[in-house]
Amino acid sequence: MNSMPRRRFLQTTLTSGVTAAALARSSSARQTNPSDPLYIAAYDTESPACLGACKQIVEMHKRHDMPATFFIVGKTLQANPKEYRKLFDNPLFEIASHTYSHRMLRDNPFCGSEISLEDKKIEIFEGKKIVEDVFERPCMGIRPGCGFDNGFRKAKDVLGLCEEAGYLYTSSLLWGPDYSLPTLLNEPFTYAEDGFPNLWELPGHGWHENLLKNNNKMGPKRITLWPPAMPEAIPDGYITTPKEEFDINKIFFDKTLNEQKTYISLIWHPWSLHRFDPDMKMLDLTFSYIRKNKFTPATYADLYQKLA
Ligand SMILES: [Zn+2]
Repeated sequence: MNSMPRRRFLQTTLTSGVTAAALARSSSARQTNPSDPLYIAAYDTESPACLGACKQIVEMHKRHDMPATFFIVGKTLQANPKEYRKLFDNPLFEIASHTYSHRMLRDNPFCGSEISLEDKKIEIFEGKKIVEDVFERPCMGIRPGCGFDNGFRKAKDVLGLCEEAGYLYTSSLLWGPDYSLPTLLNEPFTYAEDGFPNLWELPGHGWHENLLKNNNKMGPKRITLWPPAMPEAIPDGYITTPKEEFDINKIFFDKTLNEQKTYISLIWHPWSLHRFDPDMKMLDLTFSYIRKNKFTPATYADLYQKLA
């Protein structure tokens, strides 16, 4: 690090490191076809309880040789930088930003009102800087707290800040129509219409799994769409077992294969997964299913490389 200026280190890693990591991984995976959809395990890492949960999660990823993207809140990382570095410093994993402190970059009916432009700048820039300082790797993407039903479309202030900060992708489209769940199988797109042709949106899919389990203790909410776009993926009530969660995941995986989508990535939270299923049985079932079916396991960084 000392002999190479920081900016050049990051750029060099950006253009060669990620691709090399993806290639190294694909050699150890089963034979994959370039047209197979990518499967991306991704985690919104955002509270003190996430550290213990991530230890279990990382073990399950190693057992299945399964890549992942960890979106992490800057403050959460700042609280335990050494522990997180030790856990995530593995070619299987991409580390991206989940903002500096999880404040809202746009209005969200469940999570609150948007913050000022100055505060948005802190969320976007500081979140990236902390990831890069701790991991000494480029932070390519940002997933905002909670996400939005139209991503960052028409949010030119936020898009401008993301571009200025050097992000290559955002993952902000995390809700279905009219802030319903589940989030549909939206495909990647660029923000060219808003004047940012080089900035990609890589949406998340399915349920925010914490809400399936009432893990936020919000009680009943108006959260599904009528008429529903995916009635088969809406259970009758809160789920109670890891197998039930896997069965819902499988609906999204099978639809991804049938409709030949580019990728699938469910919206997961370490603290919530651990509270519901401390042995991570759902991950075991899910990763076994992914390995048995025609998916290419990947990270969001790999997806970005494939598109760009
Ligand atoms: Zn979050």
